[in-house]
Amino acid sequence: MLNIFYSVIAAIASFFMMMYGVIGGLNNFDTIQKYEENVAAFEPYENTIETAVPQTEIYNVIKEHFESELPAGKLVKKAIVIGYDGCRADALTLCENDGAVAKLITTGGKAYVAYCGGVNYPVFNTQDTSTAPGWASILTGKWADAHGITGNGIVKSTEHLTLLTSLVEEKTIDDSAFYVSWNGHFVGDDSTYKLEKAYCEEKGLDVTFSDADDDEGTVNNTLKDIKSLDCSDFIFTILEHTDHAGHGTGFDLDNPDYSSEFALAEAEGAEMIDAIESRLTYPVEDWLIIITSDHGGFNTGHGGFTIQERMTFYVVR
Ligand SMILES: [Zn+2]
Repeated sequence: MLNIFYSVIAAIASFFMMMYGVIGGLNNFDTIQKYEENVAAFEPYENTIETAVPQTEIYNVIKEHFESELPAGKLVKKAIVIGYDGCRADALTLCENDGAVAKLITTGGKAYVAYCGGVNYPVFNTQDTSTAPGWASILTGKWADAHGITGNGIVKSTEHLTLLTSLVEEKTIDDSAFYVSWNGHFVGDDSTYKLEKAYCEEKGLDVTFSDADDDEGTVNNTLKDIKSLDCSDFIFTILEHTDHAGHGTGFDLDNPDYSSEFALAEAEGAEMIDAIESRLTYPVEDWLIIITSDHGGFNTGHGGFTIQERMTFYVVR
């Protein structure tokens, strides 16, 4: 009963926030409708905005992959998450045939509309639609009420570990690697995984935390790992293309900067998938490949309550 009460209050609050957005010129019904139509236009989506999957589900998909039995003929399990930071759910309508998303979908992959922010739109979000909360929810399988990352600039305790650490610590996998270029993940004083990185070092866990200067560096680090004879069992790599373009000139499919940066991410993602499939030992490896985003965006920002910020996606094969 209390849940219904809170949902009603939240729905009313959301409505007023939406109206505030409309009146403030932040968003309007046409923009929202166009967005919804675009998401619906991407045929491979298995679900809709209304039935969007929580982004925490990605955690379960990865965990189940590693904990399930090896298929016949396979000797080892591997997984990679290719993150497109700030990539909106409607951006998949821009997919080209040679990009990473199409590569997965045309070979049996599935695409899902997902949501960030702790609760699905239109109920008002309980955590910022920002980078740190989004990736933390994917990596821990929990919302901020558990992991504590309600926004950027908060150091996560080691009470709820990411899969990068827990899978290694539980000896489900031998090693994992985290490739990024944003200082907020584990480099800065108030970075999200600063304590978790120290925890891994202290316990001697084989978890690589690697920070590059930019996306080019992240791609190089990731490809170097994939192309190594015994690559990391679990790789989590984040490309900033779409987030940078969105903050610079707008999270908008009609913005040529945003769409061209999306295409770049898609090309680099495809390069990673090609490198995986070219591995000498690929025939005996059971790979899980996921492409996802931490949050969407609206105008030149994110963190708030609009539908464009709230919806994300994941593609899995
Ligand atoms: Zn982000």
